[in-house]
Amino acid sequence: MPKNLMKSKEKKKEQIQSPWNLSAEKVAEQLKLDPDQGLNKEQARKRLHSYGFNRLRRKQKVSAWQLLVNQFKSLVIILLGIASVAAFLFGEWLEGFAVAIALLLNAAIGFFTELKATRSMEALQRLERVTARVHRNGQSREIPAAELVPGDLVLIDAGDLVPADMRLIEANRLRADESALTGESLPTHKMTDPLDQSTPLAERTNMLFKGTAVTSGSGAGIVIATGMDTELGNIAGLVQGAEDEMTPLEKRLERLGRRLVLLTLVMGVVVAAAGLIGGRDVTLVLETAIAMAIAAVPEGLPVVATIALARGMWRMAEHNALISRLSAVETLGATTIIFTDKTGTLTENRMRVRRVILSGEEIEINEDQTPDLPQDARLQKILQIGVLCNNASLNQEKEIGDPTETALLRIAEAAGVHRQALLEEYPEIREEAFSTETKMMATFHEQEGKILVAVKGAPEAVLACCARVAEGDELVELSQNTRNEWVAQNRLLAEQGMRLMALAYKEADNKSAEPYADLILSGFAALHDPPRKDVPAALEECAAAGIRVIMVTGDHPATARGIAAAVGLEADESKTLKGDVLQDTDALSSEELESVLNASIFARVTPEQKLTLISLYRQRGEIVAMTGDGVNDAPALKKADIGVAMGKRGTQVAKEAADMVLKDDRFGTIVEAIRYGRGIFNNIRNFIYYLISGNVSEVAIITLATLVGAPLPLLPLQILYINLIGDVFPALALGMGEARPRIMQQPPRDPEEPVLTGRHWLGIGGHTIVFTIAVLGAFAVALVLWEIPPERAVTISFSSLVLARLWHVFNMRDAASPLFCNEITTNPHIWGAIGIGLGLLLSAIYLPGLSNVLGLVAPNIQEWLLILTTSLIPLVVGQTVKLRA
Ligand code: ADP
Ligand code: MG
Repeated sequence: MPKNLMKSKEKKKEQIQSPWNLSAEKVAEQLKLDPDQGLNKEQARKRLHSYGFNRLRRKQKVSAWQLLVNQFKSLVIILLGIASVAAFLFGEWLEGFAVAIALLLNAAIGFFTELKATRSMEALQRLERVTARVHRNGQSREIPAAELVPGDLVLIDAGDLVPADMRLIEANRLRADESALTGESLPTHKMTDPLDQSTPLAERTNMLFKGTAVTSGSGAGIVIATGMDTELGNIAGLVQGAEDEMTPLEKRLERLGRRLVLLTLVMGVVVAAAGLIGGRDVTLVLETAIAMAIAAVPEGLPVVATIALARGMWRMAEHNALISRLSAVETLGATTIIFTDKTGTLTENRMRVRRVILSGEEIEINEDQTPDLPQDARLQKILQIGVLCNNASLNQEKEIGDPTETALLRIAEAAGVHRQALLEEYPEIREEAFSTETKMMATFHEQEGKILVAVKGAPEAVLACCARVAEGDELVELSQNTRNEWVAQNRLLAEQGMRLMALAYKEADNKSAEPYADLILSGFAALHDPPRKDVPAALEECAAAGIRVIMVTGDHPATARGIAAAVGLEADESKTLKGDVLQDTDALSSEELESVLNASIFARVTPEQKLTLISLYRQRGEIVAMTGDGVNDAPALKKADIGVAMGKRGTQVAKEAADMVLKDDRFGTIVEAIRYGRGIFNNIRNFIYYLISGNVSEVAIITLATLVGAPLPLLPLQILYINLIGDVFPALALGMGEARPRIMQQPPRDPEEPVLTGRHWLGIGGHTIVFTIAVLGAFAVALVLWEIPPERAVTISFSSLVLARLWHVFNMRDAASPLFCNEITTNPHIWGAIGIGLGLLLSAIYLPGLSNVLGLVAPNIQEWLLILTTSLIPLVVGQTVKLRA
């Protein structure tokens, strides 16, 4: 007994044993939960403290130590190590130390850049925030899912990801896809009755498990385990660490790097052979070969690319686009087609009921929703149906749920029909959730022993299930004629861009009656959703950027055309197709296929038809971005090159499946993200071009000098100094620049295109020639014309090269941009990098210890003038000929 007491006092993690075996009341009692109130603030705070956050432990943080150790595994470091040891062995103490210091500096720079890349990636992972709807202190509200604690009462709806393990206390037609946990592919029906103690996990139908998806229905459950205590937590150890794939770009860069290494090794051998045959000092020849190899290895490439991509992800997140994978940034830039939905993306999703259509009567509703509503029984009825057959709520003007539904609540409230009060009179006993397949939903309500079925949905769908219509005080058979009249009415309003909803009802004898049969039509509600103001501009940007935009909507074709016309999308009737045509694409004639591929609007589309669209276009080599919000959209979001989920309106399942989540649901955000994607790719290309043209030039300069038997224009330590210390900053600065202004006026990049194309290599070749002429020219003038001894002449060739490489950043501008005011000159990082570069050069020449080690001698005025003049040659030629197109 005292032992027991001790245990409960400890208040450590106590777990409820087999909660599926207990009644829901019992579970609530054990967790000290008042089901009407939920946990109170104090309980929630204490439990969060003792149970911790509801998180699966993330992948192990990469420790700084680990990163440091990794630095010493790189090829450059190994080469430097060899060089340093060799120097010591030959008794060259000063050289040995200098190389060792270069090695440490290189490791330090590598370490800090990689640390930055890793930490920003980790911060990005924390950005994604899943929320949960809980009942606490007697109120429902949304909290971060990480803050859930055992005992919390969680409300769950179709489309939610289950945030923790829960014992259900309410389940309305609730079904969950638990394949992630159990492997069972069909959704499991959920209920609340207690089960046998020995029930296996896959059959615990009164439980919901963290990480699974609610596919339909709604319910409420008591959290019984969070974080690593959940079933998912138990297996999470298995799935951790599987992420961290290299992006295709990083892989390509690695390959590029390896090829360059090979190239330099060959050149190194040539230089060494030529030097040895020419009878030069063996140590110097070997050191030069090694230094050259180090010079040309662009080891910074993948890291700088990662930093550029991660930084891009940050900036996109700041602009409301959350990217889930680094590689998506790259793919985004190559997007050729955007399939966009209409509601909320092209429109504001501020639905308002603008008209109620009853048989033989139309009620207009003005902007501020204060209708002059006649006290009409039929109107009361249709509003009641709209309010009952509804999952949203209005809380002091705060809307929760689908805007289509809140719009119905709003108009009803203005007429004095309140959902809460009405539900007390007509408690809900069953719900048939809205599905994009049926385009309808139904709820069952019990009142005085009778059962009322309330239905709402797309007019064609609902009309097809109606047998009678309310006319005046009577119910009249729905003849073919009247049906046609309603259909015509539907079309008329839809063409004005209105979204139409039909409302119907019936009385049933029992709860399991078929909801969609024998209904009585009440009428239509026409909702208006204003188009977003920024869409036309974004569409123009897409047109200029060679990106096609196609509307894909579940709505009526006429509504779709109405909105398309309002935002400036092609709204031709001939270019508007219904999703049905995608049912069997094999059976399409070539003309039909043609029309499918030319369409600008697909209406009444189901989630499977979205998949067909994606396949159709991907087969043609297009890079497809597809938007989606529902659970059923998850496969399409996964299949598209860029799956785009809506942050506000989307289900959590869709967000999980997507590559990009739009925090603001705006179409314009997609276009902005594409612009960033393109800009980032171009920046990466820029710094690669920059690094490689500089490095190849160095190799060429040394090789040529050796071949003609001239003294070395650059000494090994000098080469290390330029490459390991001077190079990084301009490259990073280029990687961080703004996008070229014309970036959205060019066609999309071919995704198969290498980072550096043939044209770029030609440019690099050209730059190499100019660099070589400039630097060797300076060297020759000093040696031959001015007859300066080689020890001093080397200072001139070295300084000329360093400066020429600094000025070379300005060659990276868009050839069509203005010479002085372009994306390079306006990038503050560039000026910072040039400042650092100049500082490094001046310290190398004028800092006593350093200048001795590097073998540099302070030049006089005349020599400085020569250095400056020759260093400007690559810039002047580069700007005149525009080698970097
Ligand atoms: P959209 O592309 O406009 O989001 P949806 O697939 O969501 O299209 O909706 C298709 C049709 O289903 C709508 O035109 C509307 O008539 C009907 N509908 C939409 N939401 C609901 C709902 N919550 N309940 C009943 N019917 C709905
Ligand atoms: Mg919708």
